[in-house]
Amino acid sequence: MSQETRYNPVTTEIIKKLEAIVGEKYVIYGDADKLEAFSHDETPDPKYAHMPEVVVRPKTAEEISEIMKLANAEMIPVTPRGAGSGLSGGAVPLYGGIVLFVDRMNRIIELDEDNLMIVVEPGVVANEINEYLEPYGLFFAGYPMSIETCYIGGNVAENAGGGKAVKYGVTNRYVLGLEVVTAVGKIVQLGGKLIKDVTGYNMVQLMTGSEGTLCIFTKIILKLMPLPSAKVDLLCLFESPQDAINAVPKIMTQCGIIPTAVEFMDKNAVRAACEYLNETFDYKQAGAMLIITVDGTNKQQVENEYDAIGELCLKFGAIEVYVADNVTTSERIWKIRRNIGEAYNLISKRQSNEDIVVPPAAIPAMVGKFTELSEKYGVHIPCYGHAGDGNLHARIVSDPAWSDDEWEGLLPDILNELYEKTAELGGRISGEHGIGHKRKKYMSYVVSEDYLDMIKAIKKVLDPKNILNPGKIFDLN
Ligand SMILES: Cc1cc2nc3c(=O)[nH]c(=O)nc-3n(C[C@H](O)[C@H](O)[C@H](O)COP(=O)(O)OP(=O)(O)OC[C@H]3O[C@@H](n4cnc5c(N)ncnc54)[C@H](O)[C@@H]3O)c2cc1C
Repeated sequence: MSQETRYNPVTTEIIKKLEAIVGEKYVIYGDADKLEAFSHDETPDPKYAHMPEVVVRPKTAEEISEIMKLANAEMIPVTPRGAGSGLSGGAVPLYGGIVLFVDRMNRIIELDEDNLMIVVEPGVVANEINEYLEPYGLFFAGYPMSIETCYIGGNVAENAGGGKAVKYGVTNRYVLGLEVVTAVGKIVQLGGKLIKDVTGYNMVQLMTGSEGTLCIFTKIILKLMPLPSAKVDLLCLFESPQDAINAVPKIMTQCGIIPTAVEFMDKNAVRAACEYLNETFDYKQAGAMLIITVDGTNKQQVENEYDAIGELCLKFGAIEVYVADNVTTSERIWKIRRNIGEAYNLISKRQSNEDIVVPPAAIPAMVGKFTELSEKYGVHIPCYGHAGDGNLHARIVSDPAWSDDEWEGLLPDILNELYEKTAELGGRISGEHGIGHKRKKYMSYVVSEDYLDMIKAIKKVLDPKNILNPGKIFDLN
């Protein structure tokens, strides 16, 4: 039996039961226009979209528990959904069924200043957590660059990372406790307000990054950090990617400084974004660019740190170093990084956004492969990403003259070569965007059969009927 035919359709009887659980007002059904918004995330290619049969907007863990029990009894797939900003198709209901949209679970439940922790529901927009914390001089440091739209539940499900990962790490470093509803409808507390806890397996960390396939988060306990009061960004132009990447470890070993962020952009990314923004500084001389951020609570220390980093970059091949020490200049620098996507959207909307991670020292080898592929296949592959942690966003952009068929014909070959190289360099196919259903067929390039068997076995135990976000990360027979 194929995966799809294992599931039953959502009947009007089931709709009535869902309405009885969450209230009629919170069930979206029979309205194709409204349902369409839940058929995709931000993955650009429409082939990754699929319509849900019904969208349900629960308010409590108890309601989610009831929905999961019903879905198990009726054999209906359920896909948890946050803000839908994902880039791997994770929130797409691949086999239809129920989309569980957690937007109404949007309370900040408790700020615990004594323990430096916050308890939130999954539907809180990540940025709202930090806006709430600012007057207390605290912040949640594990957020991604989509902070203004994504929900904290989606961040935990993807174990999202961001620009600040070099110094602060990614989401999982801050998740201490979770209340979850399991695939069979049990409400379970995992972890707690504890910095240390080895009481059994670390289920909090297993669930973090599980892409909505093992449980639904209904409460999240996050560790907080003191909010840095001083911050400076440096924009460093280098002649070559190799020079830029070589400078990165030296910042830590020779200056003894862990920067907050080290963002890398190759010359294609720099040129496209700067032309798009009508930038006036002399970016054309750059073969690559680093944006380096330092932050802290002591202004003098931050100044000393950026001075040291600037000098080191000049010593190791930077052609130019610009300093941004106020909001306006900092915004000008980061705008370049943020607008690469928009710049390439003007060339062609036919794109495949990859999220490779390699050991940081292998970045130049990976960038070399992008150049080779772009010349061989005639596509654009600007490369940019988090140089401090080896996470590279390769955006494969079609030649605008190609037809859909030409693009679809060549893309698998490009991805094949790209992921073969990733594996050869000891990398993985996603550093922060997740596997979803977009990348699952490439899992075997970088992990062993034994590893895949292990994670499938966990899924089978926790979700025996395979109804929670099926078809993501891997397929089950
Ligand atoms: C412009 C842009 C910039 C981005 N920058 C970054 C970045 O810097 N770093 C990064 O890591 N990502 C980035 N992303 C990707 C995306 O924003 C993140 O993956 C984010 O964490 C997704 O959150 P969401 O609420 O939108 O989740 P969704 O897209 O709705 O869902 C993502 C996954 O989480 C699951 N899920 C959602 N809520 C729950 C829940 N309550 N319980 C269990 N599972 C749940 C879903 O089933 C799905 O598998 C970016 C995206 C865009 C569009």
